Amino acid sequence: MIAAGADIIHFDVMDNHYVPNLTIGPMVCEAIRPHSNAPIDVHLMVKPVDSLAAAFAKAGADIITFHPEASEHIDRTLGLIKDAGCKAGLVFNPATSLSYLDHVMDKIDMVLIMSVNPGFGGQKFIPHALDKVREARRRIDEYTARHGGEIWLEVDGGIKTDNIRAVAEAGADTFVAGSAIYGQADYKTVIDAMRAELAQLR
Ligand code: ZN
Repeated sequence: MIAAGADIIHFDVMDNHYVPNLTIGPMVCEAIRPHSNAPIDVHLMVKPVDSLAAAFAKAGADIITFHPEASEHIDRTLGLIKDAGCKAGLVFNPATSLSYLDHVMDKIDMVLIMSVNPGFGGQKFIPHALDKVREARRRIDEYTARHGGEIWLEVDGGIKTDNIRAVAEAGADTFVAGSAIYGQADYKTVIDAMRAELAQLR
């Protein structure tokens, strides 16, 4: 996937508790770590969060994000991820309020907006997620204008060549694509087409 042109490996961790599906754990992260220098972006769909966040930091993750409603203590979870040397972020389901950001912007490196309900790959992009991306963009710009720093705005779920530009126009700078790429024989063709769409913005 990196050879085909991806910048980041997004790693979906599901626990059959926070979401009704089961995927992969820190051992798989540790196993893929030596194969690339590309950042590994671990998206934790798990509850509780803290012990697995620490395990993924140890397994070589660069970025660890979690769902705020899955943590008993958001500030502490962000702190333990940062203390382990990783970038930290919060993930927002379509029905989760961005107000969780209000008091933790200084501890956040990434905001991840879900454009599907998490649990399964291959779902369709929920159009009203674009409004949420715009709102997140506004909050990030307002915060960084005053305090500096850099906060990435990532969108996850149903992103394809034919909607990636609209997602970028709404303010996203980082895009997760699963089935859009893995569902095609030639990964590079898809990634090139996505980059061509994004290039039309600049
Ligand atoms: Zn994800």
